[in-house]
Amino acid sequence: MNPKIDKISIMFFTKTQLLLFIFIFQGFIILLPSLSFEEKIPLQDPTPDYIFYNGTIITMEETQLITESVAVLGDIISAVGNESETFRFADSTTQFINMQGATLVPGFIDSHSHWIGDRGLTNMTELTDVIDSLISYGWTSISELFVNQDRLNELQAVDEANLLKIRVNCYLPLGYGFNRFGDWYQTYTPGYEYSPQLRIAGVKLFADGWYLDPVNYINQTEMNQLVQEAHSWGFQIATHSVTPNATDIVLNAYESVIGNEPNNLRHRIEHLVLLRNDQIFRLAELNILGCIQLPWFNSDWNDRIEPLIGRKWAEITGRWQDLLNTGIHLLGSTDYPYVLGDIRTPLGAIATAVTRIGTLGDTPTDFMLNQTITPEQALRTLTIDGAYGTFQENIKGSIKFGKLADLVVLSDNPLTIPETDLKNIEVLMTMINGEFEYIKPDSPDTTSSLSSTSMISTTSGTLGSTSTTIPPLTTSAPFLPFIILGVLLIGIIRTRNK
Ligand SMILES: [Zn+2]
Repeated sequence: MNPKIDKISIMFFTKTQLLLFIFIFQGFIILLPSLSFEEKIPLQDPTPDYIFYNGTIITMEETQLITESVAVLGDIISAVGNESETFRFADSTTQFINMQGATLVPGFIDSHSHWIGDRGLTNMTELTDVIDSLISYGWTSISELFVNQDRLNELQAVDEANLLKIRVNCYLPLGYGFNRFGDWYQTYTPGYEYSPQLRIAGVKLFADGWYLDPVNYINQTEMNQLVQEAHSWGFQIATHSVTPNATDIVLNAYESVIGNEPNNLRHRIEHLVLLRNDQIFRLAELNILGCIQLPWFNSDWNDRIEPLIGRKWAEITGRWQDLLNTGIHLLGSTDYPYVLGDIRTPLGAIATAVTRIGTLGDTPTDFMLNQTITPEQALRTLTIDGAYGTFQENIKGSIKFGKLADLVVLSDNPLTIPETDLKNIEVLMTMINGEFEYIKPDSPDTTSSLSSTSMISTTSGTLGSTSTTIPPLTTSAPFLPFIILGVLLIGIIRTRNK
């Protein structure tokens, strides 16, 4: 008998009780994982439907921007990493997408557009044609910045017929110009999802008109009142403002509801064409989101900005790099069809923002070149930061385990291709919600083209590491130290008792 153990035993338990307690405790520890982890393990089979491999994957995740392979199960990304990490879940039902050196990016988000609502201004009149075109360009989500009751009814009908396919965030207008639409928006719930494709995002205000001929549509008193009311109903507010006077009014109104709090409803300002330095700092201080139009202020606009240069406004026009330098969340968009030069595609928009060379190929004006952004910055505004703009950064905007499978395969890597070639990058495939909604038709002229037949192949066992055995999920791993401790304790007591 060890006198020390005896003393401890007298203080708390007898030796037998102590051993029994450790034994029961250990049993409990071993059983615990199966009780508590049961709910967290997806009940469905983890075998992916698709695995993308043999290409470059730009995740837009800061921890690992580039990776090798992505697995998709149902509507979600079920694995991201190197090929050995994603392949181990595959079986004979998994379809392997051999990207043959192409690049996979998160689906593109157009944070401010009128693709559907103002399609009458374009050559696309049928709503379903617009949707198909958008998906072929690589857009997987769009925000419609003027969804009135009629337009919402139409979107709902198309969604109910399962024809929407692309994700649409709706911003309900409170007025247009000097007209006011009343409180009709208050019958809707901010963030409400009719389906994974259709969602109420926020409300829209127009502070002014166009930058060359500034008219303020809303004075400070009314702006404060409209903003306070929409804010009190919990709506994110997106306000069109292109001139410094109007932007001051919007900033004052936003500050009146934000105060010293964070900008919890993520109120945003659209366009921000002309901006003074103090306004950029104030935007950053209030953490207000800016929404810019990547196809604007390129060399196609050279003629249009002559008056700005005349008024010495050019240096405060389109200050995208200055905005990014302050850490503001910048949402990228097209405002289509309000675009010169008909730039419709995400890659066209990125090319313009990076080079500021328009569709006519002219040389950009100096102030444009001073505010170019990098391909990665441009990509960010159209993916993860766009998702942030609608409170959806946790479900989309990057390639990450558990996020929605909205993915686009590009013919080249926008981060490494020469900037002047960005506009030539093609969309080869668009996946939304885990479904292939677009596959580029095979082109007979290009031998290297990646068609549906050459690119998608069901595994035939040639991939080596594919296995029908699903690796066991080691749920007891976090409790291993406790189990070891228990075993050690028993060992110590037994040794001392000898
Ligand atoms: Zn617009």
